Parts: sequence; structure tokens; C-alpha cells
Amino acid sequence: MREKNILYMVIPCYNEEEVLPETTKRLRVKLHQMIDGGVISELSRIVYVDDGSKDDTWNLIMSYHAENDLVCGIKLSRNRGHQNALWAGLSTVKDHCDMAISIDADLQDDIGVLDQFVLEYEAGHDVVYGVRSARKKDTVFKRLTAEGYYKLLSHMGVEIVYNHADYRLMSRRAIEALMEYKEVNLFLRGIVPMIGFPSSTVYYERDKRFAGKSKYPLKKMLAFAFDGITSLSIKPIRFITTLGFLLFVVSMIFMVYFLIGAFVGHTVPGWSTLVISIWALGGLQLLAIGIIGEYIGKIYLETKGRPRFCVDVLLLDDKMNG
Ligand code: UDP
Ligand code: MG
Repeated sequence: MREKNILYMVIPCYNEEEVLPETTKRLRVKLHQMIDGGVISELSRIVYVDDGSKDDTWNLIMSYHAENDLVCGIKLSRNRGHQNALWAGLSTVKDHCDMAISIDADLQDDIGVLDQFVLEYEAGHDVVYGVRSARKKDTVFKRLTAEGYYKLLSHMGVEIVYNHADYRLMSRRAIEALMEYKEVNLFLRGIVPMIGFPSSTVYYERDKRFAGKSKYPLKKMLAFAFDGITSLSIKPIRFITTLGFLLFVVSMIFMVYFLIGAFVGHTVPGWSTLVISIWALGGLQLLAIGIIGEYIGKIYLETKGRPRFCVDVLLLDDKMNG
């Protein structure tokens, strides 16, 4: 019989005590089904990455691990954010599995399609992207902003899979390739397509969060969206340069116009023009400096080469330790 594939589910958790019991129940049932059906190896595991939660999340993970049924855990020393938690999980599991699937703790992404992910992997794809087929359950605001954002990113020259978030399968060698990307400002859904192994997509319908609150309030989401652009594209800088050039051309035209006006004796009361240009140029300059500063901030962080995370406790199987 053919060797079965070891699948690790990597699940970042930040204050997820409300969803973990249900999530663990559902995932256990699903994984046992897949193991019994011979889809994946019985060595497959669920790995929770506790991203510095302040609630009971880690205690729950420890108790699930103690029951020693599929569940493993990694506890980060403090909150490092969703993307870093994912990275921590992937880099830890990559030596123990053939493939890893990342998914959010709230199971908004349908685990019914896990078998399809594995099928695509077996068909020779190193990366399988989970893509939302519809956003019926999202609010109109969320749908419009999210879809607009994906379009904006591709206009910025960022290669991104439309309507794909962080529900994806990666083969071991794809994860190894990902680990070579040393940047501190992580925007995984923009980096993974850069790896370039054979890839494929699986479509699913995204559900509502069944318990607990979103860990991405609007402010965090906007910061994440802005990070995505400035981590991956330098088009905003080019845009500013173009704008500056156009403004210069326009001011030249005005200058000629005013000079002619002065020569023919048609004097212009200059005050309004002056004040308006001071404000317009001042504003634009500030904007330009702000955007350039954003990149300098990133360069600053990259040069520090800070570690991405620091593992506090590692709860693993004997198999993983050995
Ligand atoms: N998350 C995390 N660290 C954070 C914020 C979020 O690990 O600092 C995890 C969270 O536990 C969840 C996933 O990231 O598993 C996505 O968060 P959420 O479901 O709240 O985001 P939404 O679906 O509302 O975009
Ligand atoms: Mg969610």
C-alpha cells in the first residue's frame, strides 16, 4: 500500500477560548474521518499556535494535548500577530509533516473541503489556495472593501490570488522555500505566490464566526491592508513622483500665464494664488514624506534582523521530539 501523507493543521489562536472547544471537536471528527478513510496518515496532527493569548486559550490547548488525541500546541512568548503566529507554526511543523494546511481558529473557512486540498496535493501541487467562491455571509461593507482591496493590490503589481486569505495547503518543500523569505513585515498571501511551485485552488463558501469576536477590528485590518501594499509594492512611491512631476508642469504653465499677465499690465491680486499654492504644496510634500517614511520604517526594521518569534513552551508528540 502507498505511504499515506502526514497532514498538519496549523491554527493561530489569539484569545480564542470561546471557539476552541467547538473547533477542536469539529477538527478531530474531520481528521479522524480522513485518517479512517485512508486519505491521510494517522500521524497527522492539529497544531495550535497560541499567539500570546490573555485568556484560557493555552490551558485549553494543554488539556487537549493531555488527552493526547491529535492536538499539539506551540505557545509564543507574547502576541506577535496572526502572520507571525502562522510562520511560527509552519516553521515548527515543516520537518514533521508532508503538507500543512493553515486555517483560522474560528473555522470560518469550510473544513469540508480538506479532502479536496489533499487530492490537489496528491496531484502534484505544492501550494493549494483556498478561495472564497461567494461572500454571501459577509456584510456588504466587508465584501466591497475586501474585493476592492484585492483589485487594488493587483493594480499595484502584487501577484495575489483573488479572494484567498490564509486558508491554504503547502507542501513541505514549499514551506522550506517560504522560510527563505527573511522579511520582517510579513504578508503571507503576497509572498506565497512568489515561491512559484505548481499550485492549484479549491473553492469554498466562507461562514460566519460561530463564537467569539473578530480579532481583526477595523483599525488592525486597515493597518494590515496598508502593510500588504507597502511590503510588496513600490508603486505608491512612483505615484508620488509622477504627481510631483505633473504638479511641476502645471505650476510652470501658471507661471507663464501670470508673467504674460504682468507684461500686458493685467495685474493679478496674488494673495489667493500664493496661499493656495503654499497649502497645496505643503500638503503634498507631507504626504510624500509620509509614504517615503513608511518604507524607511520598514528598511529600519529589516536591518535589525529581529527574530520573528520566540517559543515559550513546546508541546509535541514523542515522534516530533525524536
Ligand atoms: N490571530 C492571531 N493573532 C492576532 C490576531 C488574530 O493569531 O494578533 C488569529 C485568530 O485567533 C484567528 C485568525 O488569526 O485564528 C483570524 O482572526 P479572526 O478570525 O478574528 O479574523 P477575521 O476572520 O475577523 O478576519
Ligand atoms: Mg475569522
